[in-house]
Amino acid sequence: MEFCLETVKLECLPPRSICQKAGCTKPAIYDTPFCWDHVPDRVELRNKILSAARQPGGVAGKCLAGIDFSRCNLAGANLSFSDISEADFREANLQCARLDHVFAEKTCFDDADLSGASLMFACLGCSSCHRTKFTGCVAENVNFVGASLREADFSRAHLFYSRFGKADCTGTNFRGADIERAIFRATILRQAEFSEARGTAVFDNVIR
Ligand SMILES: [Zn+2]
Repeated sequence: MEFCLETVKLECLPPRSICQKAGCTKPAIYDTPFCWDHVPDRVELRNKILSAARQPGGVAGKCLAGIDFSRCNLAGANLSFSDISEADFREANLQCARLDHVFAEKTCFDDADLSGASLMFACLGCSSCHRTKFTGCVAENVNFVGASLREADFSRAHLFYSRFGKADCTGTNFRGADIERAIFRATILRQAEFSEARGTAVFDNVIR
């Protein structure tokens, strides 16, 4: 797995160990010596993680890379400081979840609900967030560089100093969002909605 973005603080990530299956180079996940492809019982492991995620300490700081969490209920869960790169959260419920400092590069959040979630300093670079609900979420200092955010909903979200360089924000809703110091550089903003957005953002070479 290659990290491709400039703003990732690798030292903040949970330590990575490699899957023990011969020839596999993917990261070992959670408390197992295997990656998601090679864990013996995926359902059992996922249930264990979902249960732990609802506890007060959650699954903070764990490697959860590549796990299929599609349609799972993680409302209010604590995943802060975890590595969820290339994981699949399609249609997952992440309402009011804590995702501060997560490493979510190339992660899929299509049709997921992150309304009211906390995403401070998260890296969602090159992630897929089609129609994702970020309404009212606190997403300050977030890296959305290269992400596909088509028709995502950031209404009333707090986006202070978040970076949307080269992101695809076609049809994305920023209505009533706080975009103070947010950076839209070479961002696709066709049919993007900014009515009642607050603060002064940087718009540089955007595509409208
Ligand atoms: Zn493996």
